[in-house]
Amino acid sequence: MTDGGPPLLSVENVGKTYRVRGSWFSHRTELSALQDVSFTLRRGETLGIVGESGCGKSTLARIVTSLTNPTEGVVRFEGEPLTGISTKALWRRRRDMQMIFQDPYSSLNPRMTVGEIVGEPLLNYGLASRYERREKVASLLERVGLRGEHMVKYPHEFSGGQRQRISIARALVLGPKLVVADEPVAALDVSVQAQVMNLMRDLQQDLGLACIFITHDLAMANFISNSIAVMYLGWIVEIAPADALFANPSHPYSRALLSARPSAHPSRRGSQPVPRGEPPNPINPPSGCRYRDRCRHAVELCVTQRPQLREAASGHFVACHRHDDLSLSLQKEISV
Ligand code: ADP
Ligand code: MG
Repeated sequence: MTDGGPPLLSVENVGKTYRVRGSWFSHRTELSALQDVSFTLRRGETLGIVGESGCGKSTLARIVTSLTNPTEGVVRFEGEPLTGISTKALWRRRRDMQMIFQDPYSSLNPRMTVGEIVGEPLLNYGLASRYERREKVASLLERVGLRGEHMVKYPHEFSGGQRQRISIARALVLGPKLVVADEPVAALDVSVQAQVMNLMRDLQQDLGLACIFITHDLAMANFISNSIAVMYLGWIVEIAPADALFANPSHPYSRALLSARPSAHPSRRGSQPVPRGEPPNPINPPSGCRYRDRCRHAVELCVTQRPQLREAASGHFVACHRHDDLSLSLQKEISV
């Protein structure tokens, strides 16, 4: 989809380093949570972000929605940077981007009614009279599969799936242009995950929302996304249209993620389908390619040089020194 203007969101060479306590002698040290992350998102499009726990997904989500500042690079929304602007300008901007968090138990204030929770952003932005607020909240609750009467109840009266529906209603109440959903179904029972996923996909399509959908499950990302970025230890190692990535995962890590999926059947799906071994410590990441010590294709070059994202096929970018060799050998495997 091309709409002429700048992309809705552009993330340019973003990095994030946290100052943390090191494991030895309590020295302060640096943890590189994100490095040189770039992508763009157009209006109405969904980008899936996939990777194991600790690879920087939530950090990226918080930077995109300006809850955290990057230590390097810049995020632009409709062409304008989100950093270095006045508090007021940022406050106005935040209306356009909303976040849905993983845990529907801790993200809803237990002392507020559902009506207050969903209507609060309208109140904060002074956007509606009391009556309009009620109307709006009631219709949104219906839209996410709850009922208007639920407005007077409290979060503890709802199941996990219903609570996530409340979070979704709250995220939509200001009519945002971008919704960032950080593993929104990971904390839910497998039986309700699909219902909430279906709801999110319907809403995204009906409202023409742009969405960043974070998950550790490549199949889930494929279900909802136009394109998918695979992250490993703070890097994007592959980014491509969703069907291309799913049909032809090209980075060894993406292939491992896909083949480690235990079953297409949701009830048998593991919570963390990952390649063997643990990801390295981001306080002291490997030189060269960060994936190299778990990669059976690694060669000397992978130890010395960081692989850059290169366009392997139209719109399909891969950061792997071995990509050409590996895709040749894969073709050979297929043709014999
Ligand atoms: P993910 O969401 O993919 O699990 P996170 O973005 O939460 O990853 O974390 C990325 C890395 O940054 C992890 O190593 C994590 O321990 C570290 N990290 C996240 N938030 C902080 C923080 N506020 N201070 C220090 N380290 C952090
Ligand atoms: Mg996270």
